[in-house]
Amino acid sequence: MTEQILFADLALSEPVMKAVLKVGYEVPSPIQAAAIPILLAGGDILGMAQTGTGKTAAFALPLLSRIDMKQQDPQILVLAPTRELAIQVAEAFQKYASEIPGFHVLPIYGGQDMSTQLRSLKRGAHVVVGTPGRVMDHLRRGSLNLNTLKALVLDEADEMLRMGFIDDVEWILEHTPKTRQTALFSATMPREIRHVCNNYLNNAKEIKIESSQSTDANIEQVYWMVSGTNKLDALTRILEVEPFDGMIIFVRTKTATVELAEKLEARGYSASALNGDMNQQLRERTIERLKTNKLDIVIATDVAARGIDVERVSHVVNYDIPYDSEAYVHRIGRTGRAGRSGKAILFVAPREKRLLYTIEKATKKPITLMELPSGATVTQHRIDQFTSQISTTLAEQPDLTFFNDLLAEFSNKNEVSPEEIASALAFLLQKERPLQVKFTDVKPERDSSRDRAPRDDRGARGDRGSRDGGDRGRSDRSREDRPRREHNDENMVRYRIEVGRNHEARPGDIVGAIANEAGISSSNIGHIKLHDEFSTVDLPKGLSGDVLSQLKKVRVRNRPLEISVDQGGAGGSSGNKDFGDRGPRSFDKPRDSADRPRGDKQRSFSDKPRDGAPRSFSDKPRDGAPRGKLGFSDKAKESKSFRPKKSD
Ligand code: AMP
Repeated sequence: MTEQILFADLALSEPVMKAVLKVGYEVPSPIQAAAIPILLAGGDILGMAQTGTGKTAAFALPLLSRIDMKQQDPQILVLAPTRELAIQVAEAFQKYASEIPGFHVLPIYGGQDMSTQLRSLKRGAHVVVGTPGRVMDHLRRGSLNLNTLKALVLDEADEMLRMGFIDDVEWILEHTPKTRQTALFSATMPREIRHVCNNYLNNAKEIKIESSQSTDANIEQVYWMVSGTNKLDALTRILEVEPFDGMIIFVRTKTATVELAEKLEARGYSASALNGDMNQQLRERTIERLKTNKLDIVIATDVAARGIDVERVSHVVNYDIPYDSEAYVHRIGRTGRAGRSGKAILFVAPREKRLLYTIEKATKKPITLMELPSGATVTQHRIDQFTSQISTTLAEQPDLTFFNDLLAEFSNKNEVSPEEIASALAFLLQKERPLQVKFTDVKPERDSSRDRAPRDDRGARGDRGSRDGGDRGRSDRSREDRPRREHNDENMVRYRIEVGRNHEARPGDIVGAIANEAGISSSNIGHIKLHDEFSTVDLPKGLSGDVLSQLKKVRVRNRPLEISVDQGGAGGSSGNKDFGDRGPRSFDKPRDSADRPRGDKQRSFSDKPRDGAPRSFSDKPRDGAPRGKLGFSDKAKESKSFRPKKSD
């Protein structure tokens, strides 16, 4: 492995460095190690990186290090394809600027209330993070002044291309000072993105972090798509039924090692943190305890776990996805030692899907989707453990005469059967850890994209007119039809709605209305085709009558949808029924506006609330630990002794 670069080697400004220490990052990720020095020196970069690689910090840390707090007009502009990403990036900036007093970052995206946004812009922001359409709107109105812009970041450029924003991006680039520094991040490099790089980046250094690695055949690799159930709950379910001997759980930060270790200990596991803050002696002692069965679970960062060679490690859990395939291979190589078999479990957030593909591609091994143990499985497991405890106690023949006599007397005196007494005792024994477990099960997000080949680099253009919520009348260059994310035809029904192009309906309006009014998640809204007088939309099979009658009344562009099953049928063309109709146009479901809650207010991030506005971000981990549902033995797998559950 190449020599590890440390944050201290990177010459970040003092407050930024302080913030990095505060969030508990141990070492820079590969993309950070490569990008930070270039951006700090004022150079342009073209970073081929996807979500999960630490790319946000790769541009935010150096740009924040160079910020001039005296300048109130925006110095840094980040363009992001979706509202979600814009908010996420703004939150990251706020986190990394937590030690810069007076710092202000403003996310602006389609669908937000304009007037609030205008007020926020007037007050000034050092960094603006926005979706292209809305940024364009503000530039046109003159409410966003980029004359003194120093740096521009294009985040997920290929995604912006895919969503049809590329013209807008170029327009914005044209309206920023030529002297600006530019950083472009893209997971893939389609021709159009290459074109943007050639035209708008200045002598950019290309950073590509990739490595082809092979993994051992004796390691079973699975992933779980983080959805609904939080990671800690998922992990505790897995721990309960998975027959593990030793386990290493990988997280990203030193802080997380300690927090997770505490949570698992509180749930009765013998778990301990292993991170770079611990001195060598303590680290060695922890590994020794793992080797000698005094400890079952170690929660580690990549750095601290480097080179661990403990034969009994049967499982590796990637609680936080690694930055790249090299780190992945290194992590999972901690199991399957000395010819034994091992299992590697990877938690993947929906946004990190691409990284999963990259890892699969680099390691040339499929990673299969696992199911979380259900309530019934956990129940059966607990029953097995319980009954085997009884059998073991009986088989070991301890002297039970005293209890025999006591209970026989009790039985006679009270006229209760031995079964009834045993049941009462079993209840007392298992009170803290009921044998019957019921989870509100959350289905793992269906990853339809895995049913098809990963996206290639060709890129595509789609409609972008409304994705950004309110951008119209721009050039039509990106308005061609293109195949959208196909829903599985069998699961979808094609509906006809009575609004179309002539009513100025846009896909964003349709998705927004259906998602918001009928409570259908935007991820379940499929293909939309606009015709002149009507449109078609694919929706999941089996919608209830209530939902459909609700949908009939929903209005788009002030016209009721009057939804009905399209006679063309799902997956088929709905035909060109209207005289003079110019034929259908297909659209990807607009992502930016689709998921926005109605009445969404301007989110503004600042170190201090302005005008008494509440701080609307949180840097707390999303998967805060709930109280443990389960009580555990420290060796659940051996079905032996139970420790009573402690609460955390
Ligand atoms: P990104 O690829 O920018 O979406 O980042 C993915 C995750 O990695 C975020 O949760 C970051 O907080 C985290 N992260 C970024 N850089 C580091 C680092 N150097 N060490 C640990 N975690 C990091």
